[in-house]
Amino acid sequence: MTKEEALATLVAEIRACRRCPLWEEACQAVPGEGDPDAKIFFVGEAPGRQEDLTGRPFVGRSGRLVDLLLSGIGLTRDEVFIGNLVKHRPPGNRCPNPGEIHACTPYLDRQIGVIEPTFLVTLGRVSANYLFSWVDMKVEKLGDIRGRAYPLERDGRKMTVLPMYHPASALRNPLHRAVMEQDFDTLGRLIDESKI
Ligand code: URA
Repeated sequence: MTKEEALATLVAEIRACRRCPLWEEACQAVPGEGDPDAKIFFVGEAPGRQEDLTGRPFVGRSGRLVDLLLSGIGLTRDEVFIGNLVKHRPPGNRCPNPGEIHACTPYLDRQIGVIEPTFLVTLGRVSANYLFSWVDMKVEKLGDIRGRAYPLERDGRKMTVLPMYHPASALRNPLHRAVMEQDFDTLGRLIDESKI
């Protein structure tokens, strides 16, 4: 099976998913999208309203900021993969609860397994906490760990995690916005150094 076929199978499974009740109030699933061979995989939290309406990740205000920051390091969203921890919108944009995260993250794990990215960029504390839970690490304060590269190994696969603030937080807080710009510069540098 090619990567495209494996991802298409996952999209079909995610669209039919009833593992938690989030699908009941959502318009549709938001499986994630991008280059099947992406070296950079962005992991957000959960779809918001615009994402729920369109079925695409990060298409609202947060998404426009991600596009802008990507363009600052010479990338477009077609060259990366963008997905979320949870694939259906939690009502009223509330945080996904632990049961929903537990039910949904096997899809993210499988997407990462198919794409085999070099860099996993987490957006926000919830997705950072999930990826660091692979190595039994708990994120108390995102501000203390963001912008640094952490080696992570899973199923024999070596990756680098770069935690960042969530773009929604950067839109609310000019300080977080400036920090996020720095963190994208760090990502650009890491990409150059790794020659991917
Ligand atoms: N926020 C997220 O975490 N994910 C999206 O897809 C959109 C907004």
